[in-house]
Amino acid sequence: MSTTTLRRDRSTWERLAAALKPEGRAIIGGRAVEAVDGRVFEDVSPIDGRTIASVARGGSADIDAAVASARASFENGPWRRLEPRERKRILRGFAEAIRADVDRLALLETRDVGKPISNSVSVDVANCADCIEYYAEFADKLYDEVAPTGPDDLALIRREPLGVVGAIVPWNYPLIISCWKVGPALLTGNSVVLKPAEQSPLSAIRLAELALEAGVPPGTFNVVPGYGEEAGKALALHRDVDLITFTGSTEVGRLMLRYSADSNLKRVALECGGKTPQVVFADADVEAAASGIAWGIYYNSGQTCHAGSRLIVQRAVREPLLEAIRRVTATITLGHPFESDTQMGALIDQGHMKRVLGYIEGGLADGAHLALGGHQALKDTGGFYVEATVLDGVRPEMKVAREEIFGPVLSVMSFEGETEALRLANDSPYGLAAAVWTRDMNVAHRLSSALRGGTVWVNAFDRSTMATPFGGFKLSGFGRDRSPHAIDKYCDLKTIWTTYA
Ligand code: NAD
Repeated sequence: MSTTTLRRDRSTWERLAAALKPEGRAIIGGRAVEAVDGRVFEDVSPIDGRTIASVARGGSADIDAAVASARASFENGPWRRLEPRERKRILRGFAEAIRADVDRLALLETRDVGKPISNSVSVDVANCADCIEYYAEFADKLYDEVAPTGPDDLALIRREPLGVVGAIVPWNYPLIISCWKVGPALLTGNSVVLKPAEQSPLSAIRLAELALEAGVPPGTFNVVPGYGEEAGKALALHRDVDLITFTGSTEVGRLMLRYSADSNLKRVALECGGKTPQVVFADADVEAAASGIAWGIYYNSGQTCHAGSRLIVQRAVREPLLEAIRRVTATITLGHPFESDTQMGALIDQGHMKRVLGYIEGGLADGAHLALGGHQALKDTGGFYVEATVLDGVRPEMKVAREEIFGPVLSVMSFEGETEALRLANDSPYGLAAAVWTRDMNVAHRLSSALRGGTVWVNAFDRSTMATPFGGFKLSGFGRDRSPHAIDKYCDLKTIWTTYA
């Protein structure tokens, strides 16, 4: 499927896009519905600044309806009572339906987010289907426990679904991040209300339609599009929601904890921002490191929470490494996302593009200098593109070293010895991920234990599968997506103690 799909040219994708009529209504109780008050918002594509669709602008009344539908499905519906292998069959069918719908899902994702269509096909849609399939497989393989007790007692420790799960997700990987939450939530028998980001609502709506087609009962998986301050806040404050699983900025993550405290003490899981260090020692394989560093910051135009945005390089190898990064970057094509050779697309919207350019200007004003890029690109498209950028001579106290830019901007700092490297790398409020590049395994082991991050790569970057947990330390949040560990946050433990007469 993907090979043929990936070979398509721009005009074919444009033709398919023109024929596509995206569903912009909420999915509540198994039906596509307008917002209760009839309001809509315009969904604009960052590729060219044009409107793609009018989307239902959900508010508290819509969230009330979706939560009521999810609650009714949880209390009275069949989903959590299904035989495990039947739930597996339906979820596997859901994964297959996602794969079969690759053209539409990839188009929705690329037009909403501005990412290369080749990435949407082979990464976003593919990973989304793999994730649902991965969790489907647990349905008839997860066992509960029997606690060790005396001979007259039996203590069962049962895993039970929480009830209604609220999922709030960002715009950078709408499909993948939604599935990281929807997969384990549905596997364990919960009902879900998903609130996609206002910038990228369309693929989430389609996901709910596909789930219904695959046999997930109406009301079990609902989607309410809308703004964060409206639909998002109403969901997180709702007293009948048992868990908010959130991915987004640290700032909004803090609000989730407040909303929980101000409502029903619902559980909260947070995947927030990052400022990942790439630590390169002089003995590293420079070409491999340069490739990992360039792709690690420019993939998805740097709009990745764990993007390797801080390069911390040993002075002796600084020049050759920067030269190698420039060489790799020259091979990364910035262009229209429908072109088959485009590897870097647009930023999410005009406001965000200005913010990223503002960080570059601020970094220069603070004394950094441009080693690559630094400007808006492809202006005549009407879209929001920024060149792959390297800011050299960054000092640890500068904003570009401390704050999440969330764009294609690499901030370069230098070190002499291992202690200084570790201090610089850990000198961040975030702790999502880190990478170390060295041939010395002693250094690699010491640093990978001492670095504060949910993932540490050694001589690699951004390698992962569904089998590895993902999430952060410090202000990057808590709780993990992916892997069997993610399942725990969608369950409660119940002890059933029986004493024999
Ligand atoms: P954001 O925090 O602005 O928005 C995330 C979601 O929260 C959106 O759906 C938004 O509508 C909603 N929201 C916003 N304000 C809200 C409010 N007051 N109440 C309730 N909901 C609200 O983040 P973003 O700009 O969409 O995404 C970028 C951020 O996401 C970056 O900080 C990035 O690092 C982070 N992110 C983290 C991970 C991770 O796994 N750690 C993955 C991807 C993105």
